[in-house]
Amino acid sequence: PEPTTTRLIQAESEHVARNYDPLPVVVATAEDVWVTDVEGRRYLDLLSAYSALNFGHRHPDLVKVAVDQIGRLTLTSRAFHNDRLGPFAAALAELCGKDMVLPMNTGAEAVETGIKAARAWAHRVKGVPDEAAQIVVAEGNFHGRTTTIVGFSDDPVTREGFGPFTPGFVTVPYQDVAAIEAAINDHTAAVLIEPIQGEGGVIIPPPGYLRAVRELCTEHNVLLIADEIQSGLGRAGTTFACDREGVVPDLYLLGKALGGGIVPVSAVVGNREVLGVFRPGEHGSTFGGNPLAAAVGLQVVKLLQTGEYQERATTLGHYLGSLLDGLLGHGLTEVRVAGLWAGVDVDPSCGTGRDVAESLLARGVLVKDTHGQTLRIAPPLTIEAADLAWAVDELRLALKP
Ligand code: PLP
Repeated sequence: PEPTTTRLIQAESEHVARNYDPLPVVVATAEDVWVTDVEGRRYLDLLSAYSALNFGHRHPDLVKVAVDQIGRLTLTSRAFHNDRLGPFAAALAELCGKDMVLPMNTGAEAVETGIKAARAWAHRVKGVPDEAAQIVVAEGNFHGRTTTIVGFSDDPVTREGFGPFTPGFVTVPYQDVAAIEAAINDHTAAVLIEPIQGEGGVIIPPPGYLRAVRELCTEHNVLLIADEIQSGLGRAGTTFACDREGVVPDLYLLGKALGGGIVPVSAVVGNREVLGVFRPGEHGSTFGGNPLAAAVGLQVVKLLQTGEYQERATTLGHYLGSLLDGLLGHGLTEVRVAGLWAGVDVDPSCGTGRDVAESLLARGVLVKDTHGQTLRIAPPLTIEAADLAWAVDELRLALKP
């Protein structure tokens, strides 16, 4: 890297905790699917900030509402009402086919909120004895980084050293309906699941799995909580990944793209029977539901209401899948695609996922590895087919042993 890049990376490494290991590129500006580094080099963004940039960098409609809102009102806290929260909540609830929204900021906060909602529902509505509620989660899950959440991760890097952890979680293998059925008992409040495991490497359960989990939850009066923070809002070719199976969870957990890549916005969306359990003072966040977040979030919902992004994800995803399938046996050992979202496993003879990501960086393509050999490909849903074709060609070259 050139001097400016080196100097800025050094400043970061001296003064920022090393909780990430970024690729050596320092981004300065971005527009739609392209970012430019401090040296003026351009890169195609195939990560989209872990799907927070589904609408591309600085989507003009989103920037416009954000700038307008900054000129009017940015924060009240929820000690007072603001004129943006109601319209945002109404639109988001409608998009989800639900009654109510509980606004937060980050994905992990939405997950924590979903856990609290499910526990309170179990204790106050279902009749589970106080402090006995259990939540069933899946192996390989990734729901965020708070202590409660990492406590029910089975990834040693995520959890080791950070205990003691919150009790009340039961882990079962992913994609195994019988295991969920065996884990459910009278104390079960909820099944918390990613419809597609994102950090796990875009792991797509077989057809029928989610539907069977839905039926089990209904039969046993257990809430189905879908963590759609990475899979939702167009990424998987439908508004929610659950839509692929016509499944409606009791609670949607949303985040990432809900803030349009501009501000952190997350939410739990569900019906009154569940979200109605919260009483004033029991839960909250200083920034949750702030007018700037709500203005941007409302515009995100409007973009999704057009159906354009879901359709692009489907069409471009088929194209991406066909291009990637062409690399099977030529550097890739497995390709998994859902909408415009792919997990590809790199043949170890071509190096690690990180090696390939670094080689792609040098070729002007940004991707990130996960779990050693896997690369995740999640471009903004605004990408053009020609750019996808170019990027996969660069991947082909980067996979040369
Ligand atoms: N849930 C899922 C499925 C995620 O992929 C993520 C982030 O990658 C989170 C929750 C946590 O979101 P955040 O990083 O905004 O806390």
